[in-house]
Amino acid sequence: MPSPARLDAISHILERGPVPTAPVQSLQELWASDVFSLDKMKSALPKEVFKSIQRTIKDGGKLDTSVANIVAQAMKDWATSRGALYYAHVFYPLTNLTAEKHDGFIAPQGDGTAIAEFTGKLLVQGEPDGSSFPNGGIRSTFEARGYTAWDVTSPAYLLETPNGFTLCIPTVFVSWTGEALDKKTPLLRSNAAMNKQAQRLLKLLGNKEIAPVNSSCGAEQEYFLVDNAFTALRPDLLLAGRTLFGAAPAKGQQFDDHYFGAIPERVQVFMQDVERQLYKLGIPAKTRHNEVAPGQFEIAPFFEAANVATDHQQLTMTVLKSTAKRHGFSCLLHEKPFAGVNGSGKHVNWSVGNPTQGNLLDPGNTPHDNMQFLVFCAAVIRGVHLYGPLMRAVVATASNDHRLGANEAPPAIISVYLGSQLEDVFNQIKAGDLKGSTAGGLMQLGVDTLPDFPKDPGDRNRTSPFAFTGNRFEFRAVGSGQSVAGPLVAMNTILADSLEWIANQLEAQLASGTNLEAATFTVLKQVMQEHSAVIFGGDGYSSEWHRMAVEERGLENMPTTADALPVLQRPEIRALFERQGVLSPLELESRFEVYAEQYILAIEVEAKLVLRMARTQIYPVVMAYMETLTRSLRDQEQLGLHPDRTIAGQVASLNQQLVSQCTALEQALAQVPHGGVSEHLAYCANTLLGLMLKVREAVDGLETTVDDAIWPLPTYQELLFVR
Ligand code: ADP
Ligand code: MG
Repeated sequence: MPSPARLDAISHILERGPVPTAPVQSLQELWASDVFSLDKMKSALPKEVFKSIQRTIKDGGKLDTSVANIVAQAMKDWATSRGALYYAHVFYPLTNLTAEKHDGFIAPQGDGTAIAEFTGKLLVQGEPDGSSFPNGGIRSTFEARGYTAWDVTSPAYLLETPNGFTLCIPTVFVSWTGEALDKKTPLLRSNAAMNKQAQRLLKLLGNKEIAPVNSSCGAEQEYFLVDNAFTALRPDLLLAGRTLFGAAPAKGQQFDDHYFGAIPERVQVFMQDVERQLYKLGIPAKTRHNEVAPGQFEIAPFFEAANVATDHQQLTMTVLKSTAKRHGFSCLLHEKPFAGVNGSGKHVNWSVGNPTQGNLLDPGNTPHDNMQFLVFCAAVIRGVHLYGPLMRAVVATASNDHRLGANEAPPAIISVYLGSQLEDVFNQIKAGDLKGSTAGGLMQLGVDTLPDFPKDPGDRNRTSPFAFTGNRFEFRAVGSGQSVAGPLVAMNTILADSLEWIANQLEAQLASGTNLEAATFTVLKQVMQEHSAVIFGGDGYSSEWHRMAVEERGLENMPTTADALPVLQRPEIRALFERQGVLSPLELESRFEVYAEQYILAIEVEAKLVLRMARTQIYPVVMAYMETLTRSLRDQEQLGLHPDRTIAGQVASLNQQLVSQCTALEQALAQVPHGGVSEHLAYCANTLLGLMLKVREAVDGLETTVDDAIWPLPTYQELLFVR
């Protein structure tokens, strides 16, 4: 029998039904109805102005002031016609969150009336007081201002709350001296860098008409739903987003009966609510299903241009959280809310392409397409081999560390999975000739076509952190709570760098008179000879791979953020970002500082919470229980019985452990090193986390020994199965 507080929560939850929302509308009515889309601009703007904004979207570049004024006017008219009184510049600081600066349209007039006003200047540039956003020391506090500027490639939209709409304008956030203070600016720069080198290479490969090359992203979002009535009783879920204590339930996910099972009605109603809101915002939600763990679910959109997809991904996280509340749930985006239960990731599907050449990571049907595909694919492989540690660093957070390498998520060693057919093709190239997969004869690059690669090979290797899945790569080490911007920046940048290297090699070969096919083959062969060590198709979870990767392949294994983040300070990483014009050394250093600070903060907050909960919630309950036990044992003795003291002994010894481990943790917290950041990171990873686990062992032991009727925290069983 659970404690009264838990019982209360349970009965509350069992009484809840699904929360129905607005009447159903058709897709046509819903789709992008709250977005100031190109369609809406087209009908609201003079032809010339619309053309000019279209050009800006296509080629980047600055928005002309006169154009901005007209667009601002139209945008305001649309927003105010829907009842919006305020607009907000939305930006993406170095936390994984979304930030907003709200301003009213109101302009009081001399005669006491007020009108709604919005100019091009206000649209294009805002000035939030950014001093409280982490910036890693880029701006000293006396000039702690930054400004936001509309990213024209990402449309403005209306965000609805029960009291009406706010016009939201997606923006970059930069310092007055031009340094990127956000996650969007480097993403746009990385895309431009990739486009520049892709253009060069496509031209060398003989293409005449080449549209701007853009990266694409489709992010699969996993999350947990836990009832609010339970979360309210768990300070760890409220403050840290994960359980710091909790014994394994008798029934876990061993039966796999949740995965792709029927979605519980209350959850499905929640999902439908989310999807409708996403559709209104022009976000193409596409799939929904149960995930592996009980209480775990997934939502995935149709892919979009990486920049827009990133904004939409942030919005999706926001909508998931706010909608969950209305349905009586907490949406947990933490990577590992429950120990011993499957964690949550965000698979980032990524490719590059353009309207003229199509998806450049799609093998295609013609010999020329195939050759182009192999070159782009080889460029990715080279990039991941050279910069694997960077790929690990961009997914390094305190919360994601609990998931990576935990034998249900990719290991902390970055390798590439190609599928057996494609791996075979690259192996042949490495060996110096290319055989057809079936015919047996030799194939000629640029003349023959490759064998068909299955789009969705059934044997897709789920243990790989970075997998080719037919026409894109899927980066699986990304954390569920993370912004996808960092991983996309890394992928675009390493690709840009490899494309540049390949273009240089090709150019030299062509200049010396080699024909295109032979030159391409030579370059591909060199890439494979130097970088195939990163290709791995086996079991990424196995200890054999962990050994082989490091000892034989020379890959790095970085289990914790403390190992991975300092990669951002390596000279070759600094050079990479500077060379590609994505992040200056100062901008990169500021990211190291901010992410390190966040890691340290996350762990220290959790450590304090462990102490607080153990001492104020668990210890008193255990002491009371020991008193009860002692009393009843004494009673039995007085009756002349010889009661068994095993349980009382266990409780007392676990309690002893609890007290002494709390003391050890407290002392460790008081002794954090004040030397360098790296030392502090390592201390959190190697000392604090271990001590927190020791307290947890005692608490979890007590949970399975102490009377359930007084245990204060909702159990895993309740959190995961009562809905
Ligand atoms: P999985 O089998 O990995 O669960 P899903 O169908 O759930 O696959 O998700 C695949 C994701 O990949 C979707 O978001 C889809 O839009 C995206 N995707 C497909 N093609 C591309 C592409 N060319 N570029 C980026 N993302 C893509
Ligand atoms: Mg996937």
